[in-house]
Amino acid sequence: LPEHRQGTPSAYVTLESFLWRDFCDSAEWREWARKHALGSAADGVPPQFRLAMGLQRALRALELENNGGPADHGAAAQLNALIARFKVQPRLSPAGEISVAAAHLGNSPVARLLIMAVEAMQSGTWRRFKLCREPTCSASFYDASKSGTKIWCSMALCGSRDKMRRLRQRRRG
Ligand SMILES: [Zn+2]
Repeated sequence: LPEHRQGTPSAYVTLESFLWRDFCDSAEWREWARKHALGSAADGVPPQFRLAMGLQRALRALELENNGGPADHGAAAQLNALIARFKVQPRLSPAGEISVAAAHLGNSPVARLLIMAVEAMQSGTWRRFKLCREPTCSASFYDASKSGTKIWCSMALCGSRDKMRRLRQRRRG
């Protein structure tokens, strides 16, 4: 299944990629962060890698919640710990616009990804980040549909797999 789908706002393509990808090791993470111009992932590796994987786990738990899954209070606690660690806070521009910034370790790729996620949550876009409801898939995807009610990452693959299973269950029952 593709990493990017049509309709993902350009501001969230990097976050979409981060949540979709399964990183094998810190080298792969470093290379990915470099490719996405997220600053020097070489600083503090492997702690940076560990923090990145913690961020990914917590955000994916919330993505599951966005798709009808159970609430995960540990995920919010983990994000709050990262928010405190990087001192993520609102910043006011002279024009009176609020943005989110990290006062601490601003060039950390983990801090930058965290800021993207917090901005998505603050703007209401976050509810469109989901984990596919097909258990054999569970891929992260951005729901760009008008209604924002997609539950599978791909109707052609995941949606039809689910339909087949329900059909089989009905025949058995
Ligand atoms: Zn899927």
